[in-house]
Amino acid sequence: MFNKKKIAIIGAGPGGLAAGMILAHRGHSVQIFERRPEVGGRNSPLKVQGYTFDVGPTFVMLPQAFADIFSLSGRIYEKELDIKQLNILYRLRYGNGKDFVVHYDKTELKKEFDRVFPGEWSGYEKWFKFHKIKTERVIDCLKMPYQTPWSYFNSKIIKAFRYIQAHRSVMSVLSDFFQSEDLKWSMAFQAKYLGMSPWECPGTFTILPFMEHAYGIAHYRGGVHQLSQVMARILKEEGGVIHLSRQVNKILTHNGRAIGLELADGEKILADEVIMNTDFAYGMKSLLNEEDRPSFNNDKLAKMSYSCSTFMLYLGIDGTFDLPHHNIFFGSDYRRNLDEISKLKILPQDPAFYLQNACVTDKTLAPPDKSTIYVLVPVPNLSANIDWQKEKQSYRDLIISKIEQRTEIKDISKRIEVERIITPLDWRDQLHVHEGAVFNLAHAVSQMLYLRPHNKFNDLDNLYLVGGGTHPGSGLPTILESGRIAADLISSS
Ligand SMILES: Cc1cc2nc3c(=O)[nH]c(=O)nc-3n(C[C@H](O)[C@H](O)[C@H](O)COP(=O)(O)OP(=O)(O)OC[C@H]3O[C@@H](n4cnc5c(N)ncnc54)[C@H](O)[C@@H]3O)c2cc1C
Repeated sequence: MFNKKKIAIIGAGPGGLAAGMILAHRGHSVQIFERRPEVGGRNSPLKVQGYTFDVGPTFVMLPQAFADIFSLSGRIYEKELDIKQLNILYRLRYGNGKDFVVHYDKTELKKEFDRVFPGEWSGYEKWFKFHKIKTERVIDCLKMPYQTPWSYFNSKIIKAFRYIQAHRSVMSVLSDFFQSEDLKWSMAFQAKYLGMSPWECPGTFTILPFMEHAYGIAHYRGGVHQLSQVMARILKEEGGVIHLSRQVNKILTHNGRAIGLELADGEKILADEVIMNTDFAYGMKSLLNEEDRPSFNNDKLAKMSYSCSTFMLYLGIDGTFDLPHHNIFFGSDYRRNLDEISKLKILPQDPAFYLQNACVTDKTLAPPDKSTIYVLVPVPNLSANIDWQKEKQSYRDLIISKIEQRTEIKDISKRIEVERIITPLDWRDQLHVHEGAVFNLAHAVSQMLYLRPHNKFNDLDNLYLVGGGTHPGSGLPTILESGRIAADLISSS
């Protein structure tokens, strides 16, 4: 007989919403408690004077992962969201001024290879062929829970073994196929999606550029935050309830199991199962007593490795610009830039940065003849000794001058109508992100699969973890997958 459970979820980020909508569709009684006045977490909108920005994610890749999650809630992904596939994945501009436009269409891409990287196309074909199998096999492995070391003794892992390449770095794997360093960077910068340097990030993650080249990059009309908005709507249509502006202060425990939540106003909510979607280390430290989490006591949390942070500019600009949707600008020495972020822990003065010109695809995001410009600069997380209160304005000025020097928007400072800044301090204080490490726990080999926090928490029964700090990892497709794994573990318990 169906065992209808009372499920309490902490946080309405993409992970909590994915788990919630699947469980609600399966007939469980689902309630989400979200401390902010809106859903989405890092996948929220920022709306200012007619301009709409995405706070966090702007790249949507691996459509099948989204389609699978939606189908588990009885929905068709393509019908729920207005999806626009981008013809140009991104334009890369190198420190020496050279441009490389990465087209989705392979005929156009080959022309661009012949123009910018003559002689490298045959390497690309080999890369694509190898990565088709690698990606399929690695994804199969990421979809499983890793609750015990025995999980490794599995036919999927055995099949994927030679493709996992976790003992090598992303840059090392790319060197098997390509000669030009600049070309390798075009397939290495994606390690930054995990907040890591491609010289340190496990070679497994060369699957990220493959997903972009093979399945494309999408945008949702209205902004990528539509994902969380739509998942929240579906959850409610399935009978789930979302309580906004209701902060959870504590996970209630009894005899080694989670039994519910205590809210900031003191109200206690009892539940059969609790799902934690907050930032992992923040949630461990602030919601659980140390004796309830011996595997993740404060010493252990301090020793774990965390991703970089980001300095963000959200600019409402007068005018429209003939720039691709996604633009990456490398500084003159990319490796030095990445070392500054993860090893030297100093503020890069010649940083790589990402600039999104979403209005070229989606005019709904700004008033007529205006544009939203989103700028993301990877910077060290708060373990670095950087005084952001002091640096904030001068770093903003540096980035604006880089935009004027290196992009087509030469007079951006005169065109700014609306401006918002997020520093690592804001990520920590306003979005409760531990150390401002926005891409969560790093994806080092020591923090992957069984070694990443499990979706069913080992230290307490009836507590499940979803979101970027758990298995399978940071990034929307994997975060949604963490929700699916947790939902399945609960359904089968
Ligand atoms: C700048 C940036 C760019 C990114 N770009 C991409 C991209 O292009 N593509 C991609 O796939 N991924 C990207 N990511 C990574 C990742 O997809 C997003 O960060 C994603 O939103 C994380 O989802 P989550 O469910 O793990 O957590 P969150 O989105 O952080 O959700 C956690 C929720 O828990 C709530 N919460 C916290 N504490 C409490 C409490 N005590 N009580 C109640 N609620 C609480 C928070 O308010 C929040 O709503 C990006 C991230 C950032 C920051």
